[in-house]
Amino acid sequence: MDDLNEHIELLEKKANLSKGIDDIQKTIDLLVTARAKVAAEPETAPMTLAKLQGPVEKSFDTAMNDLKKIYSGLGKYSKALDKKFKDKPLPTAENDALSSHPSLINRAIAMHLLREGQFSVASTFIEEANAHPPHPEPTPGTPNPYLEEAWEKDLVSGTFNSKQLQQQFAEMYHILHELRQQKNLAPAIAWARERSAVLEARGSNLEFELCQLQFVCLFSDGGMTDSDADGPLRAWAYARSEFGPFQHRYAREVQQLMGAMAYWQNIADSPYRRYFYNDSAWEEVATSFTREFCSLLGLSADSPLYIAATAGAIALPTLLKLQNIMKEKRTEWTTQNELPVEIPLPPSYHFHSIFVCPVSKEQSTDQNPPMMMPCGHVIAQESLDKLSKGARFKCPYCPGESHPRDAKKVFL
Ligand SMILES: [Zn+2]
Repeated sequence: MDDLNEHIELLEKKANLSKGIDDIQKTIDLLVTARAKVAAEPETAPMTLAKLQGPVEKSFDTAMNDLKKIYSGLGKYSKALDKKFKDKPLPTAENDALSSHPSLINRAIAMHLLREGQFSVASTFIEEANAHPPHPEPTPGTPNPYLEEAWEKDLVSGTFNSKQLQQQFAEMYHILHELRQQKNLAPAIAWARERSAVLEARGSNLEFELCQLQFVCLFSDGGMTDSDADGPLRAWAYARSEFGPFQHRYAREVQQLMGAMAYWQNIADSPYRRYFYNDSAWEEVATSFTREFCSLLGLSADSPLYIAATAGAIALPTLLKLQNIMKEKRTEWTTQNELPVEIPLPPSYHFHSIFVCPVSKEQSTDQNPPMMMPCGHVIAQESLDKLSKGARFKCPYCPGESHPRDAKKVFL
């Protein structure tokens, strides 16, 4: 990586276009001056043009020389890139579970563009995807369990409501822009207040976090070392008018903010310093806002396409290695519904727990889900079928007896 950084530095310092642009500008200036002269004194035109020839030729040479450095810099950089990222073949697409779902992939791309705020790219993409609908080409032997799901068809049939989503995300980006760039909490607070009940039901702290930051901003407005108490007094008035609904759920936090009033002249040495000197406060409320906004739309805070592509990039080296081993040993990947090897992903990529049946020691699948018996013990569907044979049976882990129809499917 050092090698690459070195080349980037070189490109930035020496092999950039700034000198070239300057030199070309000089040539343009020469020509413009000459044109003005010819226009003003037409009789001197032949003389002016003759005088121009030498300098213009020279300036072209200089410009070409400037470009040489850029070409050689780019050449070296791309060589360094090739050296670092060797061209490796991708695993074959023999078991491509998505080959039968091209519309689903298009939908994921459209959603990704919309939620990234790339509205015009998204609408062009949706238009073109609708004009040229893709044709599924299932790879043989790959299961296609969800081919008929309605949510796959909504992009093709035009029921994918991109306009509405676009409006919603436009609102989200507007509020985020106000938060991050303008340090203006008002639109975010108004948004959260309108949805106060829903947010509270979700256990979200967003509304309070926003109002707390507003309090801090008012408090420190004018600088914390200021000797006049205007800021703290404005914060006090804000708390009195706005903190009422928070008294119960955030009693402790509200008390601490009020306690800070006593230290208004030396907050930095007070026990409440952390509320007032938090550099990441704005980014924290922005992240929290994005998470809540997306979840009220029924979406995750991060784009699923981004997560899938990143997880895929992490998995690729392992899968390539596996493919080589399979080739050498002439074996095949037979478990199409799950990966043949474990792929270690970072903790933020763990979305749900997995269940291993304590009887069969097998990991549960869609076809063989975990089932909970009335006694509370959980085993896989297949183990349940084998043990019960359709009649009342005893739980393998406690004296509890039950009928298999009383078992409930567990969703992880
Ligand atoms: Zn039991």
